[in-house]
Amino acid sequence: MGLVVQKYGGSSVADAEGIKRVAKRIVDAKKNGHQVVVVVSAMGDTTDELIDLAGQVSPIPAGREFDMLLTAGERISMALLAMAIKNLGHEAQSFTGSQAGVITDSVHNKARIIDVTPGRIRTALDEGNIAIVAGFQGVSQDKKDITTLGRGGSDTTAVALAAALEAEVCEIYTDVDGVFTADPRVVTKARKIDWISFEDMLELASSGSKVLLHRCVEYARRYNIPIHVRSSFSGLQGTWVSNEPQGDRKVEQAIISGVAHDTSEAKITVVGVPDKPGEAATIFRAIADNQINIDMIVQNVSAASTGLTDISFTLPKTEGRKAIDALEKTKPTIGFESLRYDDQIAKISLVGAGMKTNPGVTAGFFEALSDAGVNIELISTSEIRISVVTRADEVTEAVRAVHTAFGLDSDSDEAVVYGGTGR
Ligand code: ASP
Ligand code: MG
Repeated sequence: MGLVVQKYGGSSVADAEGIKRVAKRIVDAKKNGHQVVVVVSAMGDTTDELIDLAGQVSPIPAGREFDMLLTAGERISMALLAMAIKNLGHEAQSFTGSQAGVITDSVHNKARIIDVTPGRIRTALDEGNIAIVAGFQGVSQDKKDITTLGRGGSDTTAVALAAALEAEVCEIYTDVDGVFTADPRVVTKARKIDWISFEDMLELASSGSKVLLHRCVEYARRYNIPIHVRSSFSGLQGTWVSNEPQGDRKVEQAIISGVAHDTSEAKITVVGVPDKPGEAATIFRAIADNQINIDMIVQNVSAASTGLTDISFTLPKTEGRKAIDALEKTKPTIGFESLRYDDQIAKISLVGAGMKTNPGVTAGFFEALSDAGVNIELISTSEIRISVVTRADEVTEAVRAVHTAFGLDSDSDEAVVYGGTGR
């Protein structure tokens, strides 16, 4: 029996009862002969509460202090969890990210892990302890300041530790039974996926699926660490994310892995752009210089009479203000007519490596949307994904229609949501 890394999210340790329940699960893994490293998130909505609190004392809190504050959330849960385990008669020690050797760059609030040196974790394990590590935090290599990895970063901590400790598996415990063919909060007939490739999981994550963060899956793929996503509220097998099928059942790759949706983006249209070389470059240079990531882009054919065209693109709503300001500054150089900002959009994506070899997937996707009376505003594709932008208030209908059209509905309402907000 090898080493396992288990990660428990905030909703799994939301209160004292939750912590005790999780402690039992951890002890069971230890009793089964595993060496166990646990990564834990802050209890329930603690992180959000701390963010609110910071906002009440300062409109723009300094990054360093903000990280100091937020990491406190995980310190609370790690210590309580270690106590609960000791209370069950087993040895446990808790460690901050810094103590666990999670070394990051010095970009506060969204630091990247650059090295993991888990010497103290190894020692703790060798001495027979269960090691509990605070998720989503590290220490910067140059300044030795405390950093955080960005919201939801505990999953990345878990995978990074699993890689550094050469764990057999990284188990991510959450409030649903695994990765589903659609968000079970929206589609009750969503089906649990037994196995999904890193490739498809990466596309789902970047298309709005919240069960695993893109960065965490990317890390797991790079180091080839199998992830097992499962519920801490049930004993069921969850979803294996890996290169090759694993787990109890050997399963084949489905043509379509799932339908993801995302309502966190907005659309900007630059109206009346002169159709000549360099204009698009100037527009997107202005966006890039403000560190804004864009997603889909569509440029219309220009009207012959005016020689003007429209360019639309999507970006995170949170960057909307910044992007509009940046574009206004380019107006004198480009001479476009106006800017339109629309944050009432949704993106719906169909993901599956099988679409590479199965014709008709795109047609079927568009037919399903049209049958549901949903209008398509933008389209983009990759080799294994098709995404469209629709009105935000049509998202539920659209996701359900596409899910049904591709035969993804399960016979039962098996998609159980045990708690949390799905964030
Ligand atoms: N507690 C942090 C958050 O809520 C990190 C995590 O849960 O992974 O974003
Ligand atoms: Mg959380």
